Amino acid sequence: MRVNVDDIGDSGIGLTFEEDAESFPSLLELSRSRECVFLMPLSIDLRIRRIGQMFQAVGRFETRARLSCSRCLSDYETPLAADFNLSFSREQPETGDQSRHAEIELGAEEIGLILFHGEEIDLRDAVQEEVLMAVPMKTLCRPECKGLCLQCGADLNQGDCGCERKIINPKFAVLKGLELGKK
Ligand SMILES: [Zn+2]
Ligand SMILES: [Zn+2]
Repeated sequence: MRVNVDDIGDSGIGLTFEEDAESFPSLLELSRSRECVFLMPLSIDLRIRRIGQMFQAVGRFETRARLSCSRCLSDYETPLAADFNLSFSREQPETGDQSRHAEIELGAEEIGLILFHGEEIDLRDAVQEEVLMAVPMKTLCRPECKGLCLQCGADLNQGDCGCERKIINPKFAVLKGLELGKK
């Protein structure tokens, strides 16, 4: 996933990649831990343009993944996709002044610039970062997932297990009390 800056004309260059998710170290780790198993290669579509001294890559990645629901613990498959907008800037040649050099690098990072050296921009690390950010922190097999019964552990999405559920909503309890009072 490298592009030579000389190939990036004024109107930019469109690129597509099809990459095995497990060829990215951090994504491989996610797959191995079963936290997020990638079911398809990443398909990446982007356009890089030159803007002054910088290069801007705007694009999108798509794949499918198997995640584990945080509420009912069952596995589910989901599309995983996101748009990205990355800015690359060529690293300044070493000035010999190490602390000044580190300062420039830190400053670039703070404003979201990704530094590269030489004539090639390697997109791998940046794209991996985008995929990692797209993996949901709170996984849900569906928005209305009912989760597991706290008493017997049954998956409540499969139907009611029959356990008596404690009334935890105080409003509910008050209503019940009123009803009793009426009788
Ligand atoms: Zn669920
Ligand atoms: Zn139950």
